[in-house]
Amino acid sequence: MPVNVLFSARPALWPVYEPLLTRYLAEAGVEARLGTEFDPDQVDYVVYAPNGGLLDFSPFTRLKAVLSLWAGVEKIADNDTLTVPLVRMVDHGLTQGMTEWVVGHVLRYHLGMDRHITIQDGVWAPDAPPLAQERKVCILGLGALGEAAARALASLNFTVTGWSRTAKDIPGVTCLHGPDGLREALSRAEILVLLLPDTAATENALNADTLALLPKGARIINPGRGPLIDDDALLDAFNAGQVGHATLDVFRVEPLPPDHPYWAHPNVTVTPHIASETRPATAAQVICENIRRGEAGEPFVHLVDRALGY
Ligand code: NDP
Repeated sequence: MPVNVLFSARPALWPVYEPLLTRYLAEAGVEARLGTEFDPDQVDYVVYAPNGGLLDFSPFTRLKAVLSLWAGVEKIADNDTLTVPLVRMVDHGLTQGMTEWVVGHVLRYHLGMDRHITIQDGVWAPDAPPLAQERKVCILGLGALGEAAARALASLNFTVTGWSRTAKDIPGVTCLHGPDGLREALSRAEILVLLLPDTAATENALNADTLALLPKGARIINPGRGPLIDDDALLDAFNAGQVGHATLDVFRVEPLPPDHPYWAHPNVTVTPHIASETRPATAAQVICENIRRGEAGEPFVHLVDRALGY
């Protein structure tokens, strides 16, 4: 009997994913029917993004798994109506895009690019930037995205420190973990990159106390999630000179309201949640591999720990 796969995401994505999912499921030897509408009690797998609007999974009585198109699962991880495995997206294209975005913004700060791109004032000020090994970069979150960014920055010779919940060993990166490691990690963050998930434990990870642990004038790059930062504390830290500048891609409310102080703040660059996105060509393969695994009775990859929220 074919498996029924419901695609519940932004409708504009369906024509993009439909041929890819059809092809990769066929290649995996899985007989499947794909669509954007099924009777809920006929659905085996849901390919899911929050903007598909699906909130109540209780009518999905034969569901085997929900396969998220997004890496961040904070909008579904605590959904009580979901009682089957939840799998998040780890996609090569998404990872590569994030690495490029992080490296680009780190280099902007490291090289002091703004000085010469935005100000052509006739002043000849030949202050050459230091070499990368003289620049301390810290990444909070060493998962799929944080580790890849850390490795790329280390390959450019930056002095890279990373922090995660559990211990890690990444060549060229000083890996710290747990609450004790955070204090040291932040002290090594001339440029700080946030790639933590949005969970109860990470909310306001950057607050008045932790911002005070950064080297004075630190730069912050947040492609993780808005709630990682206490916004009022960050605005205070700009005023105090404790934080020099921030590049913020994600916010508590998106789109960021036009009257939000970040838009006009001289110390902030706002980008509209574009750091990286799931790439259908590679993501469809990940989805299909998990459906194949589900049908073969093998464990899913990239399973979310619902208790931890990521
Ligand atoms: P992962 O789940 O692979 O990695 C999360 C990392 O955060 C892990 O290293 C984990 O530690 C660490 N972590 C989680 N909780 C804590 C904690 N309480 N204390 C310390 N460390 C913690 O996620 P990804 O790398 O795939 O993605 C990270 C986030 O990036 C996503 O959740 C999403 O919010 C964001 N994102 C943003 C995009 C954008 O365009 N702006 C695009 C895609 C994702 P451990 O390894 O020990 O478990």
